[in-house]
Amino acid sequence: MKISDILKQDKVTLSFEVFPPKNSSSYESVAQATQEIAALRPDFMSVTYGAGGGTSEHTVHIASDLHKKYGVTVLTHLTCVSSTKAHVSSMLEAFKAHGLENVLALRGDIPAGGAPANDYRFAAELVCDIKEQGDFCVGGACYPEGHVEASNKTEDILRLKEKVEAGCEFLTTQMFFDNNILYNFLYRIREKGITVPVVAGIMPVTNVKQIKRITAMSGTYLPERFKAIVDRFGDNPAAMKQAGVIYATEQIIDLIANGVNHIHVYSMNKPEIAAEIQASLSEILK
Ligand code: FAD
Repeated sequence: MKISDILKQDKVTLSFEVFPPKNSSSYESVAQATQEIAALRPDFMSVTYGAGGGTSEHTVHIASDLHKKYGVTVLTHLTCVSSTKAHVSSMLEAFKAHGLENVLALRGDIPAGGAPANDYRFAAELVCDIKEQGDFCVGGACYPEGHVEASNKTEDILRLKEKVEAGCEFLTTQMFFDNNILYNFLYRIREKGITVPVVAGIMPVTNVKQIKRITAMSGTYLPERFKAIVDRFGDNPAAMKQAGVIYATEQIIDLIANGVNHIHVYSMNKPEIAAEIQASLSEILK
């Protein structure tokens, strides 16, 4: 099913993200985790794509199994900045062959030494190519706090509008820990005429290492309430995990209460976290 059709329905949706194994030796454990998340019957699942494309086969295999074996609607990520047009075409052919009809079109981070290919500069170019090469439903990424490279939020939103006009039918947000940032972003993009559905990306932070990585990579704002949790429970893994899941769940409840109907959980291949969040929302999701 096309994700654009799922998001058109007048209902709250909950989806989960998984990432492919970095090497073949961990394939089985990742496949097992994704199967357990699929058993929760989310509205859809997304499968990320290794920035350099090195794990692209795993992305296709995991996505294909989710679709064919477990009947889950899948959003397959695809990045372009380190890729060639020929490689993108071959990936799209593989997606078609496996019945994968939803693609999250991403630029990817530019590697420290510069991109190894120069066929693509921005995700909008990939969106156009995907649309030309098949009947895909295409989504894009968006950044409620602004993308790290953008000089300001207004410029970033104008670029986002171009990406949507290139053919994005929905947007998924970068993680955020303060819902007011999302409400402000939604107001600003709607004001600029971006009308496609926005899926709110929520990251349950369950260990301190994760927080350091997040702030180093994207400079995401951490509210005082969140920092207090980390200060108090950061050196107690079980308590941190519990508090992190509850924080994410409360964020989700507030979003839904304020009319944000589409929630994507960065479940990081952890079925127990996906299950706990889903169980806490059981009445809300009915
Ligand atoms: P773009 O939309 O191309 O934007 C990148 C920057 O370029 C922005 O600052 C934008 O304002 C600017 N820009 C856009 N167009 C122009 C223009 N014409 N002229 C000048 N500036 C312009 N990475 C992975 O490697 N694999 C994944 O699976 C993955 N999944 C992700 C999922 C989500 C929901 C999100 C939010 C991010 C994901 N990423 C993933 C990370 C993403 O690849 C990086 O954040 C990357 O730096 C930007 O990708 P983009 O598609 O948003 O780029």
